[in-house]
Amino acid sequence: MTTTFPSVLMDRFQRRVDYVRLSVTDRCDFRCVYCMAEDMTFAPKQQVLSLEEIYEVARAFVELGVGKIRLTGGEPLVRNNILSLIRPLGQLRGLDQLAITSNGSQLQRLAPALHEAGVNRINISLDSLQPRRFRQLTRHGNLDQVIAGIDAAIAARFASIRLNAVILKGRNEDEVLDLVNFAMQRGIDIAFIEEMPLGLIDEHNRALSFCSSEELRTIISSQHALEALGDPMGQEGPARYFRTAGSPTRIGFISPHSHNFCHLCNRVRVTAEGRLLLCLGNEHSVDLRAILRAPGYTLDTLKRGIIDAMAIKPERHHFHLDETPDIVRFMNTTGG
Ligand code: SAM
Ligand code: SF4
Repeated sequence: MTTTFPSVLMDRFQRRVDYVRLSVTDRCDFRCVYCMAEDMTFAPKQQVLSLEEIYEVARAFVELGVGKIRLTGGEPLVRNNILSLIRPLGQLRGLDQLAITSNGSQLQRLAPALHEAGVNRINISLDSLQPRRFRQLTRHGNLDQVIAGIDAAIAARFASIRLNAVILKGRNEDEVLDLVNFAMQRGIDIAFIEEMPLGLIDEHNRALSFCSSEELRTIISSQHALEALGDPMGQEGPARYFRTAGSPTRIGFISPHSHNFCHLCNRVRVTAEGRLLLCLGNEHSVDLRAILRAPGYTLDTLKRGIIDAMAIKPERHHFHLDETPDIVRFMNTTGG
C-alpha cells in the first residue's frame, strides 16, 4: 500500500513550515561566552545522528515541501566528513537553498568545496575585529584565521554571505560601526542578533549585557543613513534589513526580544541528537532518532512523525532576561 503525504507542512496556526535548521554536531572549536560555558559536556557519539541519518531527515523534509535547509551546530565544519553529507544534500531535488552557519575557523580550507557541493548561502559569526577581544569572546578563536575564512568565502562567490554579530554591553558595543564598515568594505551583509537566554552561562549577566536592536540602530545611524528594506520575513527569516545609499551591504537586526516574529515563523530545528524542536524558545519536541532507529524504519514512518509534530508547534516563545534561563538548552545544542 502506498501512503500519500501532503506536499507542504502546515501547523495548526496556518503557518507553513518550509525551512529546517539541522544541527550536525553540538561540538565546537570555540566557546563563545554567550553560547557556551567554559566546560561543556557534549553528547556521546552514539547519541548523535550519523551523517546518513541526517541525510534521511533532510530528504523527508524536502519531500514534504521544505525548500530551505541550513546546517548549523555547534560548528558544522568540525564534523568529520561533513562534505560527504553536503554533497548529496546539494543534489536533493526540491531543495532550493542550502545554507550553512559557521564560525569561519575552517572556511579558508573548505569554502571552495562547500560552494562546489551546492551551498549557496553562508552566515559567518564575527563579534570583534580586535584580536585579543575576539579571543576573549570566543575563548579559543583566532581572528586572523576567521578573517581569512571570510575572504575565502568571498572568493568562492557564494550567492549570499552574511556576518552575524552578537553585541554585548561593555564587551563589544564600541565595535558596532567597525563591524558595519568591515562588511561594507567587503560588500557583504551583516546582521546583529540580540542575545537570547539559552543555556546557563557563567560569564556575564545577560540582563546587564543586553543591547537592543534599537540601540544598535541608533549607533549605526550616527554614521550611515539607514533606509528600511521591505518585507521583514521574505526569504530571509526574522531579520529586519536596512540599506545605506551607495553600498550593496544590507544591515539586519534580529530582535527576538524587542520584535516578536512568532506569527510569521516558518521554521523548525533538528538537534544533533535528532530531536525535532518546534520552537527555539519552547521545549516541544519529537524524537526523530527513535523513529530512525526503530525496527522497520522507512522514510514514510519518518515523514509521518514530522507531519504529526506540526500539531505541537507552539504559537510563540516567551523569552525573559532574568537570571534563570527559560530554556536550559544551550544554543549549540539547539542549533542556532
Ligand atoms: N558555530 C556556528 C557559528 O557560530 O556561527 C553556528 C552555530 S551558532 C550557535 C549560530 C549563531 O547563534 C551564531 O551567529 C551565534 O553568534 C549565535 N548565538 C549563539 N548563542 C546565542 C545566544 N545566546 N543568543 C543569540 N545568539 C546566539
Ligand atoms: Fe561555537 Fe558558534 Fe556557539 Fe561560538 S556561537 S561557541 S562558534 S557554536
